[in-house]
Amino acid sequence: MDARTRYSRWLPELEELVAIPSVGVDPAHATDMEAALAWLEPRFSALGAATRIVRSPGEQVLLADLPAQIRPETAPTLLVYGHFDVQPAGDLSLWESPPFRSEIRGEWLYGRGVVDDKGHLVMYLEAVRAVLAHGALAINIRFLIDGAEERAGTLALDCMRQMEPRPDGCLIFDGPMIARGRPAFYIATRGTLAYHLHVRTGERDLHSGQFGGAALNAIEALMAILAAARRGPDGRLPAPLRAGAQPLPPPVEETLHLLPEPLVYLAEQGTHPADALVGADMYHRLWAEPSFEVNAIGSGQPALRHMSIPCEAEAAVSLRLAPGQKADAVAAAFEALLAAAAPAGASLTLTRRGASDPAVLRRDGVLLEAAADAFATEFGTRPLLIQAGGSLPLLTLLGELGIPTVMTGLDLPEGNIHAPNERLLLEHLEHGTAILETLFSNKSFTR
Ligand SMILES: [Zn+2]
Repeated sequence: MDARTRYSRWLPELEELVAIPSVGVDPAHATDMEAALAWLEPRFSALGAATRIVRSPGEQVLLADLPAQIRPETAPTLLVYGHFDVQPAGDLSLWESPPFRSEIRGEWLYGRGVVDDKGHLVMYLEAVRAVLAHGALAINIRFLIDGAEERAGTLALDCMRQMEPRPDGCLIFDGPMIARGRPAFYIATRGTLAYHLHVRTGERDLHSGQFGGAALNAIEALMAILAAARRGPDGRLPAPLRAGAQPLPPPVEETLHLLPEPLVYLAEQGTHPADALVGADMYHRLWAEPSFEVNAIGSGQPALRHMSIPCEAEAAVSLRLAPGQKADAVAAAFEALLAAAAPAGASLTLTRRGASDPAVLRRDGVLLEAAADAFATEFGTRPLLIQAGGSLPLLTLLGELGIPTVMTGLDLPEGNIHAPNERLLLEHLEHGTAILETLFSNKSFTR
């Protein structure tokens, strides 16, 4: 059977949706965002869902409430999240087929958004149709389809905070598996803190012949300040910045040997380990340790040959916070550490530019067990429990609200999301939909 026939349940709709260039970060695509909503809403209505579009400046969220077919008043409610905005196409010359005209090549479907996240949305629709056809929808489903995921919008978070009553669980298909045949559930992510630093050491730049060795240099002062937050020889940040960090939980620790070898993983990204210990503990560092990075430095005029002593220097820096830490507490420790490291005579201004707490998801309960079973049926192996080094405010909120959450997806590391030639493994349409059908017809999720 050719691919077009085998995947005829999904392809026509997915191709239509991909053809709408709903690039949320680009105001030039505002009408396409509306077009995507106008495409999605009637499809959820046709399932029998009560739909509502919520808007704030520049953001849209589609809410669709679908009642259980069996005793909806006592059935549990599952929140199902996805997003219809996509990343910009980027450099068109790097695409082997036009980004917004999907194309099958081999076992893959190519196009912007095919897997992040439109392919998952089409799986949602198709799974509900199949379950409804058998009269077996056992749970209430509340779809929250976000139009501002790629630009870190906040409207979806507001909608979630206001939901009454609270959903009994949350399912998110918007992420990668570890590898082909190896699904994963994300159970925690790191948080963030970002700062701008400004250092002033005098009223004006000075001649190094007249003052070199005697006058305070702003770049040297900045380096001394930044050094206070750097990793030590053990690869760890100073103790005050690590306070509260939780070690990896045993189920994550047990899966580390199944993950890509750290030095190979880094080499594949074209980079080098930060120090000699990374090979032994990279996943602990990425998932269960805070990190500190200097993102940019500015001072003087490096393109010129001039022997002066700068009186000003600035830097952009950021931290990733480990699960267990709180952004406000780490911020206080960080600011104190840097202030103490400023040489006498250097005035340091620290401006906080953003912060988010790490996410620690509830990983108990019927929903996670049922989802793990459903993945095992499809892939022949239970999902690995892993963490993520990045940050997702949505997960932070779900963790804070204590809603059991399955954060997963059927993307693959070679799926090229956010890059040219984004692609979805076609057979994942079948697997993902089958998993959802199993979950949507399971009535046993409880609070
Ligand atoms: Zn996504």
